Amino acid sequence: MDNAFKEPCATLPLSGWGRFPVEECRVYRPEKRRGLAGIIQSTANPHCIPRGLGRSYGDAAIDGGGAVIDYSRLNRMIAFDAETGMLECEAGVSLAEILGVFMPRGFFPSVLPGTKFITVGGAIANDVHGKNHHQDGTFSQFVESFELLTAHGEVLTCSRDQNAHVFWATVGGIGLTGLILTARIRLQPIESAYVVADHIRLPNIDAALEAVTEADENHKYTVAWVDCLAKGAHLGRSVLMRANHAPAQALVSRGRDPLVVKPKRGKSVPFDFPGFALNPWSIRAFNTVFYAAHRTAHGKIIDCNSYFCPLDAIHHWNRMYGKNGFGQYQATFPFQEAQGLVRMLERISRSGRASFLAVLKRLGPAGPGLLSYPSEGYTLTLDIPMHKGLIPLLHEFDREVLEHGGRLYCAKDASAQPKTFAAMYPKLDAFRAVKARLDPDNRFSSTMSRRLGITPPVKGDTHDE
Ligand SMILES: Cc1cc2nc3c(=O)[nH]c(=O)nc-3n(C[C@H](O)[C@H](O)[C@H](O)COP(=O)(O)OP(=O)(O)OC[C@H]3O[C@@H](n4cnc5c(N)ncnc54)[C@H](O)[C@@H]3O)c2cc1C
Repeated sequence: MDNAFKEPCATLPLSGWGRFPVEECRVYRPEKRRGLAGIIQSTANPHCIPRGLGRSYGDAAIDGGGAVIDYSRLNRMIAFDAETGMLECEAGVSLAEILGVFMPRGFFPSVLPGTKFITVGGAIANDVHGKNHHQDGTFSQFVESFELLTAHGEVLTCSRDQNAHVFWATVGGIGLTGLILTARIRLQPIESAYVVADHIRLPNIDAALEAVTEADENHKYTVAWVDCLAKGAHLGRSVLMRANHAPAQALVSRGRDPLVVKPKRGKSVPFDFPGFALNPWSIRAFNTVFYAAHRTAHGKIIDCNSYFCPLDAIHHWNRMYGKNGFGQYQATFPFQEAQGLVRMLERISRSGRASFLAVLKRLGPAGPGLLSYPSEGYTLTLDIPMHKGLIPLLHEFDREVLEHGGRLYCAKDASAQPKTFAAMYPKLDAFRAVKARLDPDNRFSSTMSRRLGITPPVKGDTHDE
């Protein structure tokens, strides 16, 4: 057997994008797929978890006291069929790499979340959604199959027809069923690397909820940026950005090459901001400027990077929250329970704690992934700087979300408790049954899976029970 576990590994403090919690992990960065079985079966690694680009905010891709398998070097593209848009690649290929290679050739990821710096493996394991969920569903809708390396060292081909129960447990299964080695995913053809977008200012949350609903009918992509510090009659004032892919002609008539986007120089946050830099006044000032700068305008031609992933233009933007990091909170409320979302906005606005803009989207029907997050309703996402009272505040939010029949998203979570999670995910027992068959000794386990009670605790766990 390949003794890949003898490859260099470093013990490092590791976190998700929110930089909370931070835990010491043994980090492997293998270059070859054949090295992976050695890592997961080594007695040095009683438990481990795969990691993509670490863009989940909380503890999904860390394993305190255990091993983390970093996929950043397992990023080879294997085959592409331009007739069908089918790409076969290693799981560590990022959506940024896919965009770089395929956008100039007229293909685009069928689902692109708010950042392109995520891997195909991470996109499957969180079954990510984009601004088109209401029309197209989640990432898994465009996954034809993947190869999964299980805890026993077996490689399973998983699809809707082959090992289907493993397929649907791995989709949204936060890395707990095994290592996705390669995947076959379908890209969509595009005529241009641009969208035609409307920006519409909305004076309050009622107008925003109504406008996203209306926009979904005729637009493939919709998102509203909400000023979550606005109060009273302005509570939830927003800028709706609805869009469709731009036809080639829209660019040609402006004398531009439809598939070429002039590269922009990214900016970077060079160091951790001091704790006092983000305060209710500076944040309120930012939100006010954003709202004022986005006047209602129709038919704007915007390049895809700027429309889909605006934050990617600022590298290390998570440093703005200082070294203590931040919590991101994303919850869905069923349509008929929208008043729960309004109540949450009221609380966050009163507390003055929330940060920049919150994101409001409308999600379509749930898919078959056992732990897949999206379900029909409005989803609200906000960032809150880490402070002493944050976790109890988030637990209060959890209770509110539960009362309204909503649920939280693992990709964002760092604090939910086992009971809350189980109540929000009714297919958890079905997931556990698949996991027990595939991985009876829980070799795949993360700080998150233990915190949420999906896998048993291990020595050294520090989270509260
Ligand atoms: C700015 C920003 C905007 C975002 N917007 C959205 C959005 O609009 N919609 C949305 O859905 N999400 C969004 N996210 C969250 C992000 O898309 C997900 O967290 C995604 O899963 C991150 O992918 P990653 O490659 O960084 O994986 P990681 O965060 O490193 O890992 C995520 C999970 O995938 C598992 N995993 C990784 N690789 C493999 C593998 N090869 N095999 C098996 N399991 C694996 C890990 O164990 C972990 O459980 C956003 C994140 C950021 C930072």
